Amino acid sequence: MFKRKSLIVVSCIIIVFAIFASLIRIKSTYMAPVLMYHSVTPEAREENRIQISAGLFSHQMQFLKIHHYNVIPLEALGEMIKKKARIPAKTVALTFDDGYQDNYIYAYPVLKKLGLPATVFIIVNEVGRPMGGRLNWSQIKEMQGSGLITIGSHTLDHPYLPEVKSEAELRRQIFESKKILEEKLGVPVNAFCYPGGRFNAHIRGLVEQAGYKYAFATGLGRRFSNQDVYLVKRVRISESDNLFDFWMKTCGYYNSFRNHNNK
Ligand SMILES: [Zn+2]
Repeated sequence: MFKRKSLIVVSCIIIVFAIFASLIRIKSTYMAPVLMYHSVTPEAREENRIQISAGLFSHQMQFLKIHHYNVIPLEALGEMIKKKARIPAKTVALTFDDGYQDNYIYAYPVLKKLGLPATVFIIVNEVGRPMGGRLNWSQIKEMQGSGLITIGSHTLDHPYLPEVKSEAELRRQIFESKKILEEKLGVPVNAFCYPGGRFNAHIRGLVEQAGYKYAFATGLGRRFSNQDVYLVKRVRISESDNLFDFWMKTCGYYNSFRNHNNK
């Protein structure tokens, strides 16, 4: 009888300890999600990883608004990471890569209506190219002037930086893109985004040297925990995400749940 009682007590202690340990673990793996979008189009195919339909995008933004997510400018999140500040739950930042003109046509009005800030990463030499459906300078300036949209650099030509053999060219892509954007926009450009999420330690160092304050990659792996403000990971949002997927990706624990694949 006594033995059975003590067995129950020991079991209870183990269960309480396990719950406590897992709570601590969950808390320590919280990571404010930085959502990565590319093109926002009237219709999008699920298999196209860089497109999302305007309707779904609008739904997702309304989901964030209705459920009181703390959608903050990317730079504000960068500062929190830099200062190792406690990031409140439900904090989210929004980014758009490559500077598609459809960001201005379909995403910007939704963001403006709901008052949600976002960052658009521009490929400087692509600006105004109608063939690629890119933003032009007047659209970029208008969005930036709204105070809601921040412009970041996505290099001059979008090369995969680790494959650029010339040091001078590497520096040009990183330094010159910042300079041109700042001259055109009249504001400091603090955020950089690695094309294709590709980087190495040398490239990361150059980004810091160029005067950027934050840099963003893509999925990275579990071993990156957003401690380094020059290697902040993001989560890709695509047309195939249903509302549950979207909730998972914005809850702050997605990185702990998912596998190593860069979804
Ligand atoms: Zn890109």
